[in-house]
Amino acid sequence: MQNVRARMVFNVWIALTIVVALVAVAPAQTRARNTVPEKYKWNPADIYVDDGAWRAAKEELAARLPELARYDDRLGSAASTLADALDARQLMEQQLSRLFTYVNLLNDQDTRQPRYQGMRQEAVQLRADLASTAAFIEPEILTLDPAQLGEFIETEPRLETYRHYLDDLVRRGEHTRSDSEERLLAAVGPLASAPRSIFEVFTGSDFPYPVVTLSDGSSVRLTQAAYTELRARSIRVDRETVMSAFFEAHAAFGSTLGTLMSANVQEDLFEARARGYDSNLELALDAANIPVEVYTRLIEGVNRHLPEFHRYLELRRRMMGVEELHYYDLYAPLVPSVELTYTPEQAIELVRTAVAPLGEEYQAVVQRSFDERWADWFPTDGKRSGAYSAGGAYDVHPFVLLNFAGGYDDVSTVAHELGHAMHSYLSNRALPFAAARYPIFVAEVASTFNESLLIDHVLKSVDDPDVRLSILGNYLENIKGTLFRQAQFAEFELAMHQLAERGEPITGDALASMYLEITRKYYGHEEGVSVVDDYIAHEWSYVPHFYRDFYVYQYATSFTAAEALAQPVKAGDAEATARYLEFLSSGGADYPIELLREAGVDMTTDEPLDLAIREMVRVMDEMERLLDEGAAGGG
Ligand SMILES: [Zn+2]
Repeated sequence: MQNVRARMVFNVWIALTIVVALVAVAPAQTRARNTVPEKYKWNPADIYVDDGAWRAAKEELAARLPELARYDDRLGSAASTLADALDARQLMEQQLSRLFTYVNLLNDQDTRQPRYQGMRQEAVQLRADLASTAAFIEPEILTLDPAQLGEFIETEPRLETYRHYLDDLVRRGEHTRSDSEERLLAAVGPLASAPRSIFEVFTGSDFPYPVVTLSDGSSVRLTQAAYTELRARSIRVDRETVMSAFFEAHAAFGSTLGTLMSANVQEDLFEARARGYDSNLELALDAANIPVEVYTRLIEGVNRHLPEFHRYLELRRRMMGVEELHYYDLYAPLVPSVELTYTPEQAIELVRTAVAPLGEEYQAVVQRSFDERWADWFPTDGKRSGAYSAGGAYDVHPFVLLNFAGGYDDVSTVAHELGHAMHSYLSNRALPFAAARYPIFVAEVASTFNESLLIDHVLKSVDDPDVRLSILGNYLENIKGTLFRQAQFAEFELAMHQLAERGEPITGDALASMYLEITRKYYGHEEGVSVVDDYIAHEWSYVPHFYRDFYVYQYATSFTAAEALAQPVKAGDAEATARYLEFLSSGGADYPIELLREAGVDMTTDEPLDLAIREMVRVMDEMERLLDEGAAGGG
């Protein structure tokens, strides 16, 4: 679901659509939609009773766009005029978001229907029209005298809603250029996304994915989806075949993929310099007012904790019973003997009980999500894969897409997505639309937090050593994929951009050797902790996230923030719990670092990372003890 998640960055209208799946989900068994009982299907009619109602709402909104234009050149005339203009725009954006949510749900539940693709195109066009009608607002506000703007906010209560928005606008104004320069920069916009588009088209349809023969004699074409599924195969020789073939195939296009990445980085450099930033990193982080140190400190901190990561790798080697752990062993199942299965009803009950520390109201809404059909549970023919929560129907309720297959992972996904859904639910209820949308930096906190509560709850009731081992192993896999792998990506990404900033060429070869060096450091290749084979050098070139500059580190920071916030809540600290619930109701009312600070975690320090590592060590202690006592483990 990388494409959907990535789209959020550029598409403010679905900013409330958060997608899980750092680890791609294996394709689940689908069935015909009409064979699934209604209670397991979401109900888009809560948004519009039918397509006709959607169309009427769309036409009404389109007809009202010209109303905005009447504020052009008048925003500084009175505080009430500014408030009128911002209110009018907010209401239109809110309705547009509702229109989008409806078509997205219908499109995602069966992506084969051209009808909803067409309606989505109409919504996209309407969004462009609204954006262009409202384009005068921000530049005009920036021409106001800051003292006057401050006075407006103090005298007009309706502007309180926009206090943070206006503050942010003025803050970013420092890097806003003259009218003619801004027009030029805007005109360059479509060119900026060219490298990403070319990458997506190339790897999505034209790339010659290799065909390999597996140990059972079957032949498979290693598309991205097939690769993700097969690298987790329990047969070792197949894993090696699959991984080496996949990356060798990418190596054959190293020059092309390197040149594409170079263009992507150069585009960033162009914008950073045009806007007066010291680096590409500063440009990217400034959008959410994140200090550069949050990024660099994460990388330094994770490097400091590589010994604990190596201990995890050694534990994996031991559990798999192999002499030498290779990179191609990293996705193999850790505890294959345990299979836990759940129905949706059991999953909801488990999640509802797990979130008890957050109070009865939170629990009641979790139950409502099931009783009132907010979620679409099962994989059906043509349905989008993965999982997400969509909070864009502001005055309706959040919707959740699942592809529930009944495993523990699936229950964890339910907890995760309901975390996003609750964040939307509580923020939408507490705040006006414009302030309710939460920034990406904090989004994954609400979801990861619930996974943490779930694992804690499940462990309390499980005595069977093998099942415990399986659940603890699941936690470790999660920390590996979310914290260490994303920090490794973040370190590579920063080094790559710095190469360009120093004026050195970015080529496929340069990137491959840089990637191999960083990966070998993380995986303890030199120390004999694991073996990172040469072809792993080309792994960088298949990761689509590197075209969303400086994005992935947020998975790591969200994880550590969530762990830090969850710990006192699990321990029954009422004040911490109240602060966390307040955070869930704060949407995007402040800068992400401030929102988290008020919730009780300071992301500008090493503390959240150190705490997450302590938790990881505790888990490894228990797993090693269980293994010493003879629990299965072995693959
Ligand atoms: Zn998520």
